[in-house]
Amino acid sequence: MELKYFSTRGDKEAVTPSMAILRGLAPDGGLYVPDKIPTLDCSLEELAKMEYKEVAYNVMKQFLTDFTEDELKNCIEKAYDSKFDTEAIAPLVEVGNTYYLELFHGATIAFKDMALSILPHLMTTSAKKNKMDKKIVILTATSGDTGKAALAGFADVPGTEIIVFYPKDGVSPIQEKQMVTQTGDNTHVVAIRGNFDDAQSGVKAIFSDEGMKKRMSDAGMQFSSANSINIGRLVPQIVYYVYAYATLLKEEKIKSGEEINVVVPTGNFGNILAAFYAKNMGLPIKKLVCASNDNKVLFDFFGTGDYDRNRDFILTTSPSMDILISSNLERLIYKIAGNDASKCAELMNSLKDSGKYSITSEMKEGLKDFYGNWANTKECAGTIKKIYDDCGYVIDTHTAVAACVYEKFAKDTGDLATPAVIASTASPFKFTRSVMEALKGDCDKAGDFELVDELSKVANVKVPKAIEDIRNAKVLHDTVCDKDKMCDTVCNILGL
Ligand SMILES: *Cc1c(COP(=O)(O)O)cnc(C)c1O
Repeated sequence: MELKYFSTRGDKEAVTPSMAILRGLAPDGGLYVPDKIPTLDCSLEELAKMEYKEVAYNVMKQFLTDFTEDELKNCIEKAYDSKFDTEAIAPLVEVGNTYYLELFHGATIAFKDMALSILPHLMTTSAKKNKMDKKIVILTATSGDTGKAALAGFADVPGTEIIVFYPKDGVSPIQEKQMVTQTGDNTHVVAIRGNFDDAQSGVKAIFSDEGMKKRMSDAGMQFSSANSINIGRLVPQIVYYVYAYATLLKEEKIKSGEEINVVVPTGNFGNILAAFYAKNMGLPIKKLVCASNDNKVLFDFFGTGDYDRNRDFILTTSPSMDILISSNLERLIYKIAGNDASKCAELMNSLKDSGKYSITSEMKEGLKDFYGNWANTKECAGTIKKIYDDCGYVIDTHTAVAACVYEKFAKDTGDLATPAVIASTASPFKFTRSVMEALKGDCDKAGDFELVDELSKVANVKVPKAIEDIRNAKVLHDTVCDKDKMCDTVCNILGL
C-alpha cells in the first residue's frame, strides 16, 4: 500500500516518501509525517530469524513505499557494511538486570551512524526517482554527533555538498576534532558563536528563506537536511528497536508478545520517536522512558503538558542532549492532536513567538505511553562509576543519563519485572574525558589521547578505529562565524 506524507503544519499537499526525503522540511516549516503508521507485516518469530539488514528491509519498505525492492536493498547493503565493526550492527549486551542496545558501532561511534550511513543513499536514490538534477546541498546543525556522522556519510557522494554548523564551545574535544579533520572536497564545517539551538534555528531560517531558495535554484542547487527532522533519518531508526526485540526473542530472554520497556537518552526527540513509531507498528513496548539531562524541558513537559524553553541553556557532560527545542516532538504533538495540523501549527507558532505552549487535556491523554525523568551531571558520573564497579562495563555520558533515569523509573513505578532495553547512544571513547573523570576523578593534567589509552585499559576494549583515525589527523576546517552570519557564510561557501 502506498504511504503519503503530510506536513505537521497544514500544507495539505501529499508527497511521496522519496519527495519527503528530498525536501527534509515541508515548505510551510512543518515536518513530514506518514498519513498512518503501518503495522509490522511479518511476525515477531519471523523477525527473530533475520539478520539486521533483513529486519531493516522489512521495516523500511513499509514506510518508503515508492522505493522498489532493488532500490531499497541496494541502499541497505551500502549502509550496513564493513563501516560497522560488528556483524550484528546493533548488538544487545546484557549488563546487570538490563540490556544495552549498542548503537555506536558505525563509522563515527555514535548512534547517528545508524541513520546517517543510509540517508545519503536514500537521498541520491530519491533524487534519481524524481528526476531531480539539482545539486543537493545538505545543511545541518549539530550538537556534536550528527555533524560528524553526516559528514562521513556524505563525503565525496557525487551530486551533494554538505555544510555543518556546530556550537564552538558546545561539543566535546573529540567531537570537534572528528569534525574539523573531515576529508572530502564537498565537506564544510563551521563553528558558530552560539549554542545548538542557535545553530538549529539558523539552519531552519535559511531553509525557509524564499530569497535563498531562488538564488539556490538559479545556481542549480537545492537544500536538504540531514537533521533528524528528515523522515529519511527517522525510518532507519525504527529498525533497531524491532531488531532489539527480535534479538531478545531469538536468545529466549523473552516470550513472543511479552512487553519490554525502552529507555532513551533524549535531546531532539528523534530516537525516542522512532521507538514510539515501533510501538505503533505493533512492537510490544510497554513504556517509552524519556531520559533528559539538566536541560529538562521534556521532563517538565511530560509532567505538566507545558513546553517552555524560556530557561537557561545548561552545558553538561552529555552535549548531544543539550537542547531546549526538541524538534521531533512536533511529530508527537501532531499525532496526539489527532493529526490536526492547524492545532499543531498554532502550538509551534506559539513556541516560536513566546518560547512556550500548552497542550489540551485530551492531548495529554496521548502521552500515557511515555515516562519522563532527568539526571544531573553528578548523578550521571555516579552511574558510570557504579556500573563499572558492579559489572566492569563502561558506558558513555549520554547512556548514563538513560541508565540513571531507568533507576528512577524502576523506583517510581516498581516495575522491575519488565525487561528493559537501554539505548546506548555513544561509545565512551567519544566522551573520554568526562568518562575518565567519572571513573577516577580529576584528569586535568592528562591529554585527550592519553585518556583514550587509559580508558582502553580500564574498559578492556580496543581503541575504536574512529578515534585512532583522528589521533594525528590534520585540521582542515577552521571557519568560525557569528550566529547571525550563518546565511552569509553559506553563500560564501556555495559561491552565491
Ligand atoms: C543525538 C544524540 C542523543 C539524542 O538523540 P535525539 O534523537 O536527538 O533525541 C543522545 N545521545 C547521543 C550520543 C547523541 O548523539
